Amino acid sequence: MDLGIAGRKAMVCGASRGLGRGCAQALAAEGAEVWVAARTPETLERAVAEIRAAGGQATAVLADVTSEQGRAKLLEACPAPDILVNNAGGPPPGNFRDWTREDWIKAIDANMLSAIELIRLTIDGMSERRFGRIVNITSYMVKSPLGVLGLSNGARSGLTGFVGGLAREVAGEGVTVNNLLPGQFDTDRLRSNHEKMAAGSGSDLEQVRKSARGAIPAGRFGQPDEFGAACAFLCSEWASYITGQNILLDGGQYPGML
Ligand code: NAD
Repeated sequence: MDLGIAGRKAMVCGASRGLGRGCAQALAAEGAEVWVAARTPETLERAVAEIRAAGGQATAVLADVTSEQGRAKLLEACPAPDILVNNAGGPPPGNFRDWTREDWIKAIDANMLSAIELIRLTIDGMSERRFGRIVNITSYMVKSPLGVLGLSNGARSGLTGFVGGLAREVAGEGVTVNNLLPGQFDTDRLRSNHEKMAAGSGSDLEQVRKSARGAIPAGRFGQPDEFGAACAFLCSEWASYITGQNILLDGGQYPGML
């Protein structure tokens, strides 16, 4: 299927590794021109080089998307994106009794306000051009929260609520806004979470990973390229009737129907 996004300009945040990278690669493979934003020069340059080597068009933007300067840099590099993929690292796990106001502000900044700010800076241009696709990478924790990830649950739920209203406001202008909710995807972040769990419980890493896989009906972790493919479809011409949705990609792990 031709997704109809060749030549579209895509801004992809947190895209040197993991899920963001999967999205950048899939969009570039469909002919979109991609601006890849991340904070670490080595992994960023490597991601851009690999996308180009596969025939895609990509530009590196060294930026922390949770900072005002980082977002300004991204907008300077790509002033009029047709596609925006919001993504940033998630907050650490813990016990809410230990979290200070500063911890909360940091989480809300990273996983709610930075996405809203990038949307604010780009959505009116999309509406004027009558085409826009905004995809926020959130988490299956929005539907199925765990206490230890309270900082993430709280911040991402705030973004989810905001997006629900916004999507309806711009639906008539050719702009869609959706959230993709990853379950367990085999990325550096998931591995580092498993390493921490193994260290915390004194268990073997492979045992922790085996038991995590066992909780997924599909029997395996997701891969960033399949996450990217779902993102590319949501950004396609064919997804113009899908908006305001929270789409789970979790191998069947969430047990509910809705
Ligand atoms: P990852 O750590 O493997 O990759 C994150 C990427 O984002 C890296 O390229 C990193 O450099 C970049 N990044 C992080 N913070 C940034 C910032 N402030 N500015 C610019 N770039 C930044 O993580 P991942 O597994 O791909 O996860 C992506 C998001 O999805 C995270 O918010 C994570 O919490 C969430 N998530 C992931 C999973 C999973 O299974 N992997 C599950 C649920 C939620």
